[in-house]
Amino acid sequence: MHSSDHISDASFFDLDGLTKALTLMTSSETDVRELPISLPQLGLGESQVLDLLAPQVLGTAAQLGASTSMAHMDPPTPWITWAMQLWNASLNQNLLHEATSPFAARAEKLVLDWLAPFFGMRGGHFCSGSTIANLTGIWAARDVAGIRQVVTSQAAHLSIEKACHLLGIKLVKIAVDAQGRLDTTQLPDLKNSCLVLNAGTTATGAIDSLALCGAAAWTHIDAAWAGPLRLSPEYAERLNGIENADSIAVSAHKWLFQPKDSALIMFRDLESANKAISFGGSYLAKPNIGVQGSRSAAAIPLLATLLAWGQNGLAQRLNHLMQAADSFAQKIEEADELELWNKPQTAVNVFRPRHISTTELLAALPAGMLSSCVIDGEIWARSVAANPMADVELIFTKIIATCRK
Ligand SMILES: *Cc1c(COP(=O)(O)O)cnc(C)c1O
Repeated sequence: MHSSDHISDASFFDLDGLTKALTLMTSSETDVRELPISLPQLGLGESQVLDLLAPQVLGTAAQLGASTSMAHMDPPTPWITWAMQLWNASLNQNLLHEATSPFAARAEKLVLDWLAPFFGMRGGHFCSGSTIANLTGIWAARDVAGIRQVVTSQAAHLSIEKACHLLGIKLVKIAVDAQGRLDTTQLPDLKNSCLVLNAGTTATGAIDSLALCGAAAWTHIDAAWAGPLRLSPEYAERLNGIENADSIAVSAHKWLFQPKDSALIMFRDLESANKAISFGGSYLAKPNIGVQGSRSAAAIPLLATLLAWGQNGLAQRLNHLMQAADSFAQKIEEADELELWNKPQTAVNVFRPRHISTTELLAALPAGMLSSCVIDGEIWARSVAANPMADVELIFTKIIATCRK
């Protein structure tokens, strides 16, 4: 409860101001005004700031839920998460101090208790993204299993290389096959290795052979993108084998439709992992687990989403997106103007025009419709089905029209 009798500075709570902020979200004010180039001496006041910033922040942003938006792994977010983020911002709980965040700590544990079993994991914690989740997993691999090198595919996310650099671990990159998956015929001896497999590569959505889980001293799965498919009875089996991993990273701000910064690192042997990645401090009631110190209550928006949708609601949206990507792929395959790279494995489509250059195509289309990726030194168009409101038919029609111009 906000007890206004304790608050004499209206900068800290004003329901009318918040109501105005909400109203501005639906206005179409486009009068973008210049911002001061140096720090203002005198404050404008909150209400003025809302008017000044609404056209900039709300007006010029990409609309991830627009019918033509299908470029990136960033999804639109359901409004229940906006409400929870507002509550979170007002409370400013810190997961580092359980005494100041009793419910947030319970929410985090509950969400992990719900989700970890889908991955065969015991638990874990939230962090700001899979970059940190991957770093945390490889850190545990080094200090629990004593691994001396990381083996991964050339298609691995740059965060794997970053983690190895930070942890002082040698990185061995293996070539990928024609479908963008780690070429299993080229694996070295894995005795002292952490094998990092992709469950949905960033560029093409490829899933490495997860049957390899358990073949190395430690197996970490980068499931930043496609991990949530484990919650869809229709598609969970695509990630079979993942339950034998030692650690798994999943970005909740991708296919769990969460606002940033929200991701999960999960461990099979939670106790040994937590022991290896914990630091105590005199002022801490409990040891600090993981890379980050202060942490937000990011579990609460995810808890609310999972309660509101249920597993079925999430699965329905993921199934819809998988099917939208498949139908998009089929249209591309049937069009004389386009070349499909491969059938999509996790709702990422890679293709290019046959008669104009990919760069020309991308430049002619509205921003946010497609992105690009480079495969074997060549540029391809890329489309990611993260937006349940995307209109595949409309997007396809615009692409074909551009190719024919
Ligand atoms: C997005 C992504 C990451 C990085 O995750 P962030 O949440 O952006 O830090 C890592 N690996 C893969 C495969 C990704 O797609």
